[in-house]
Amino acid sequence: MLLFVTVSFLSACPIKIITLITQDNLTGLQDRKAFLKLLAIQVSDANIYKSKIGLLIVDIDRFYRINNIFGYEVGDQILQKFATLLRNVVRAQDYVARIGDNRFALILTDIMNVGHAELAAHKILRLLQVPFSFKEEKLYVDCTIAISLCPTHASNYLYLMKECESVLHEAKQANKKIGKSSVPEDDKISDSWDIEMALDGVLDKDQLLIYYQPKISLSNGRIIGAEALLRWDHPEKGFISPDYFIPIAERMGNIKPITNWILNTVLRQSSEWPDKWGPLSVSINIPPDLILSPDLKDHILNALNLWGNKNIILFLEIIERSLVLEPERSFSILRELQEMGVSISIDDFGTGYSSLSYFEKLPVNELKIDRSFIFNVVSNNFSQNIVKLIIDLAHAFDMEVVAEGVEDLATLHYLKKINCDIAQGYYFAKPMPQEKMLEWLLKFPDVELGKL
Ligand code: C2E
Ligand code: CA
Ligand code: CA
Repeated sequence: MLLFVTVSFLSACPIKIITLITQDNLTGLQDRKAFLKLLAIQVSDANIYKSKIGLLIVDIDRFYRINNIFGYEVGDQILQKFATLLRNVVRAQDYVARIGDNRFALILTDIMNVGHAELAAHKILRLLQVPFSFKEEKLYVDCTIAISLCPTHASNYLYLMKECESVLHEAKQANKKIGKSSVPEDDKISDSWDIEMALDGVLDKDQLLIYYQPKISLSNGRIIGAEALLRWDHPEKGFISPDYFIPIAERMGNIKPITNWILNTVLRQSSEWPDKWGPLSVSINIPPDLILSPDLKDHILNALNLWGNKNIILFLEIIERSLVLEPERSFSILRELQEMGVSISIDDFGTGYSSLSYFEKLPVNELKIDRSFIFNVVSNNFSQNIVKLIIDLAHAFDMEVVAEGVEDLATLHYLKKINCDIAQGYYFAKPMPQEKMLEWLLKFPDVELGKL
């Protein structure tokens, strides 16, 4: 059957696209030909937008027996019911097609990892545990499901189809219900799927904690503030590294409420710190996507109004990448934040793509040299050159420089010699929770740098 569909885009846009869709009469789903066209479009979009799609091929087991035993009429009804079941499994943005007599295919668009596709496959198998009913009869239907991802397993739609069909063949041979294309060694996606499930609503579960790591002035050996670092105390897996779960939270879209929680928690906790050294800074890491978020300023203002304390200076640590998308707009946001009394720090400096031509306009108070240049700075010429260069650059533009990842005295000594302003690292203290931080602050003897 041929179906003509007219899609009109935005009302302001007069273009009309006429799409030719071939449909399977029995199930109303697209047929193989239409499906391949659709797959080609989805694969091409995934390549352009750097997203992932999942292809599932679902094959009803021993379908010929159903036809033989119960007749074609029942066979047809099974196919119709099966098609409805598949439609109920997918989301509105996904596609289902009938690509063979007893074979169906699903495109799951914009998924994060194989876990999403597996979830859909398990849902199909779960729904099949309930038999299909025909008058008095009840009939259990089994199927085999193959999963492949684009671009993980193929970035061309025909190869993707071929890969998935061969996975299906292997799964059938091995008598497995679900077959998956093999996952590249470095792709820890199944694991990340568990993490995603657990991250969902993590704020309500009271599992996030803030640790603080002190920053020490190299000119007088005094504490000048601390960086707030997020910790996730997962009930089964224990502490999970922020390096691992923050990118997942960013992709899931719940980094904004998490950052808002961090902002409020950090300002509340730091307001309890002793004030014997005068104002201390507290630094929060702000993910790149949030810089341009329209409500960042309001969230900060609200948190400052609630917990603000004249002895605490809020620093926002951002990475160079945050500025490249819309430099002028980002600069003006940062300038507004500075006018509110917030200081700006560029984190991991030296690893991104900062353009020197921007430097004059950069509304930034501090550069933090990435620890990859610090760990071997005493012995490595290249690191020494980079670190000296960053220090000179920062000082030329009235910024202070923090060296992070300072682990030993020799490194500290060297950094002081080349006029680095501030040091942070295990040499002084590992990141610690608020109670420990309070104890540490009370005990902290000013480091006698003069003797170094
Ligand atoms: P970062 O902002 O560069 O944080 C510094 C990292 O270096 C921290 O790792 C810290 O524990 C570690 N570190 C500090 N001193 C030393 C040292 O002497 N030696 C070594 N080897 N490491 C040291 P952590 O806490 O695991 O955080 C890793 C990254 O996760 C952070 O890198 C930051 O990018 C991200 N992150 C942490 N907390 C937050 C947060 O609250 N929000 C956001 N958006 N990102 C966060
Ligand atoms: Ca940082
Ligand atoms: Ca850093």
